[in-house]
Amino acid sequence: MINNIDNNLLDKIVSLAKRRGFVYQGSEIYGGLAGTWDYGPLGVALKNNIKHSWWNKFVDSREDMYGLDSAILMNQRVWETSGHVGGFNDPLVEDLKTNKRYRADHLLEDGGVDVTNMSAEDMDAHIKEKKVLSPDGNPLGDVKQFNMMLKTEMGAVQDSASISYLRPETAQGIFVNFKNIVDSFHPKLPFGIAQIGKAFRNEITPRDFIFRVREFEQMEIEYFVRESDWEKHFEYFKDEMLEWMDEIGLDMNKVHDVEIGDGDRAHYSKRTVDFEFEYPFGQKELYGLAYRTNYDLTKHDEATGAKLGYLDQETNERFIPHVIEPSLGVDRTVLALLLSAYTEDEMGGETRVFLKFKPSIAPYKVAVFPLLKNKPELIEKAREVYGKIKAEIPQTLWDDNGNIGKRYRRQDEIGTPLCVTVDFDSLEDDTVTLRDRDTGKQERIALDTITDHIKKIVSGS
Ligand code: ATP
Repeated sequence: MINNIDNNLLDKIVSLAKRRGFVYQGSEIYGGLAGTWDYGPLGVALKNNIKHSWWNKFVDSREDMYGLDSAILMNQRVWETSGHVGGFNDPLVEDLKTNKRYRADHLLEDGGVDVTNMSAEDMDAHIKEKKVLSPDGNPLGDVKQFNMMLKTEMGAVQDSASISYLRPETAQGIFVNFKNIVDSFHPKLPFGIAQIGKAFRNEITPRDFIFRVREFEQMEIEYFVRESDWEKHFEYFKDEMLEWMDEIGLDMNKVHDVEIGDGDRAHYSKRTVDFEFEYPFGQKELYGLAYRTNYDLTKHDEATGAKLGYLDQETNERFIPHVIEPSLGVDRTVLALLLSAYTEDEMGGETRVFLKFKPSIAPYKVAVFPLLKNKPELIEKAREVYGKIKAEIPQTLWDDNGNIGKRYRRQDEIGTPLCVTVDFDSLEDDTVTLRDRDTGKQERIALDTITDHIKKIVSGS
């Protein structure tokens, strides 16, 4: 069995994703728009399963977590206070001939230079000293700091007050609602606020499919703790994140946690661990876990006078809580899951491709088909079976296109764990064939127990 040892793996994934309706290029019929991708029916289902699984583990099954859905557009002062207007920059360098722009750190890394702890000035000096050229072989200009926030304007009057930004992280929406949550729910420390939503970054060079895009989705928690407890909670969330990654079926042999050194952390962080994944284009960030201290709440408190402290009822002490932040990208999860699940093997003397998704994550849990599509009595029976299963398992698919072999291949390629076929015997004895994606094995199951049988397999019990 071949699994992930293929140099063209990313190309295969991109083409499967398009062919089967997971991910399409954004604005494709207009020639595309760099750094944007559209999720088709299967991609949406996969993303929803990922988000539900995360929300279920980190919010619904706990008592100390509060959900939030804050606005993408925020008062521009939020981003001044948080340091994003001044400091959310990437080093940009331009090819002097073609005017193509590159991320200076990526360009140097691709050329084998270790950019750890290098500032933009260091990169500039290195490029000049070593006469580093662009990928097209041309000289490069000065390294400049490029702000990654996407700016927009609101309202009919065009002045500096109308500026807003598409949020580059969901976190700030949480910080500015801290007081609202405290006032409405009076939570006791430690507690967290969780949010899933879109974030936007004007990446200089979006690349590697849905890995680095300009519009993406984040799942973030700000977990508020006493300063003295931060290390304990940091370790706790590190374990919880690893547990969740395993739960959704990421290839854990490809996940590595990496301690981020002093010079490479974001301006607000005192400790950061990145969870990196071995993508076909290298080992790169999947998620981040940061100790943001009480930086953000303190800054917002100072800027607004909104009194963002927490009053400890027992000690009567007032202080600004510290924060542990697990930050996860939905799109990178989709990519890492596709890469983890992609498998090729031999079945019936042919090479087949299948996505070995865990049933909980698979876009469809089961597909139902009639053996032949031109026999009304078979269709009628199969429709009845389909309706019965779908009533209890909504992610059930009807498929009567092509012959049965083609349908199995198609379901394998989209990672459907089970297929149910209604044949002539079904009309006589009320049994159906249940076929397992991974082994190809088939068994006869009585119709009155089929839904429970599928439910058991899908829930892993
Ligand atoms: P990178 O170093 O890869 O640019 P980052 O360190 O800037 O990432 P964070 O600010 O920690 O990323 O963002 C939290 C999470 O959001 C990341 O771990 C990732 O899953 C996701 N993410 C960030 N930028 C992008 C992007 N451009 N495209 C897709 N997902 C992203």
